[in-house]
Amino acid sequence: MTTNRSAETTPDVASIRADFPILGTQVHDSPLVYLDNAATTQKPHHVIESLSTYYETYNANIHRGLHTLSEQATAEYESARDRIAAFINAKQSHEVIFTRGTTDAINLVARAWGDSNVASGDEIILTEIEHHSNLVPWQMLAHRRGAHLRFIPTDSEGHVDLVEYEKMLGKRTRIVAVTHMSNVLGVITPVAELIRIAHANGIPVLVDAAQSVPHMKVNVQELDADFVAFSGHKMLGPTGIGILYGKESLLNTMDPFIGGGSMIRVVELHESSWAGLPEKFEGGTPNIAGAIGLGAAVDYINQIGISNITAHEMSLTDYALQQLQDLDSVRIFGPPDTANRGGVISFAVGEIHPHDIGTLLDTDGVAVRAGHHCAQPLMRKLGVPATVRASFYLYNTTDEIDQLVASISRAKDFFDGA
Ligand code: PMP
Repeated sequence: MTTNRSAETTPDVASIRADFPILGTQVHDSPLVYLDNAATTQKPHHVIESLSTYYETYNANIHRGLHTLSEQATAEYESARDRIAAFINAKQSHEVIFTRGTTDAINLVARAWGDSNVASGDEIILTEIEHHSNLVPWQMLAHRRGAHLRFIPTDSEGHVDLVEYEKMLGKRTRIVAVTHMSNVLGVITPVAELIRIAHANGIPVLVDAAQSVPHMKVNVQELDADFVAFSGHKMLGPTGIGILYGKESLLNTMDPFIGGGSMIRVVELHESSWAGLPEKFEGGTPNIAGAIGLGAAVDYINQIGISNITAHEMSLTDYALQQLQDLDSVRIFGPPDTANRGGVISFAVGEIHPHDIGTLLDTDGVAVRAGHHCAQPLMRKLGVPATVRASFYLYNTTDEIDQLVASISRAKDFFDGA
C-alpha cells in the first residue's frame, strides 16, 4: 500500500491503480478495462496481504482458544469489526454483525426479526427497483406469515414517489425495506426522507446499502436507519463476508437465526440460552479471514477518503454519461445526469442483444455486465429483457471510458455489417 497519500489529497489514480495487481493484466491481448464494479470490485495488495498474513502467521479459530494465535486472530477479527463500525458511524461495535454478504444479512432480518414481528394480513413495503436480494427474502417471509408486499411506485428513472409512499403507510405496515442505490439505474433513493416518514409512523426501515456504502459516506446514526446491509466484496474486500448493522434495541429483541457453536450462553440437552450481541447472530466458525480482509479494505478506503472516491466517481459518471449520450444508438436507463445518481450506468445499443454487446466488448478487454442484474421485475418495468451495465470505482479513468465508447462503436459497426 502506498503510504504517502492522505485522506485530504485528491486521489492519484495512477498510484491507486498500482495497488491493484489485476489492473496490470491483459484480456484477449488488450489491457483489462474493468467496468463491472457493481458486481464485485478488485482487491488491492493491502487486502490480499492481510489474508495471506492471517493464514501464514496467526491462523487459528477465534473466541475459543487460550493460545497465542487464537488470541491474535480474535483481536484482529474484533478490531476489524470496530473499524467497520467506525466507518459507518455505528454507535457501538456490537451493532455490526458479520454475515456472508448483503443477501445473508437481509435474510437474517427477514427471519430473525420478520418471523416474530410480521403476522397474517400485515404489510411489508418495498420499491419496484429492488435487487432480488431485497425482494425474495420478503416474499418468503410474506408466504410464511400470510403477509402482503406493497411497492412504492417509481418513475422510469427510478425516482420513488414520496407522496404515494406516505399514503401507503398504515396500521398494518410492519417494515420498509429499500435500496439506497439501484444496481441497475444508478439512482440514489431518498433514504433519509423515507426513514423519517416511516419513523413518524413508528415503522422500522432496512436499507440495502450494497451499492452505497462502498461509494459514499453512509452514516447510520445520521440516517437513523434500523438495519443496514452491505457486502465486503463490493468495497475492495473478500467475497463471503458482509455486514448487517442493526440498532442495539432491535437486535436485542430478536432471536438468533442460525443455531450452533459460539452463539450460546448455556446449552442443556433440551434448551439453550443465547449469547449477547454480536455473537448471538454469528453461530459457527465465522469467515475470520474475510472479516480481517474487510477491515483492511476499510483502512484502504479511509486512506484515500470516501469523499474523494465519491467525487472521482461522479466526475467519471458525468464524463461517461456525456460520451454515451453522444452515441446515437445508445439508450441510457436511469437519470440522465449525476443528480441523485451513482457510478452505475445501464444502457442498450440499438436493438442488439446486451449479451452480444458484452461478449464483443470482452474481446477488446472491456469487462461490463449484461443481463437482468438480479432485478427481473425492474427489467419488465423498463420493457427490456436485459441491459448492458458499466460501473465505476476509485481506480477507473476517463481513458477507460473512452475505450468503452470506442468498443461500443466497433460492436455497433460489426452488427451493422460495416
Ligand atoms: N443489493 C444490491 C443493490 C446489489 O447490487 C447486490 C449485489 N449485486 C445485492 C443486494 C446482493 O449482494 P450479495 O450478492 O453480495 O449478497
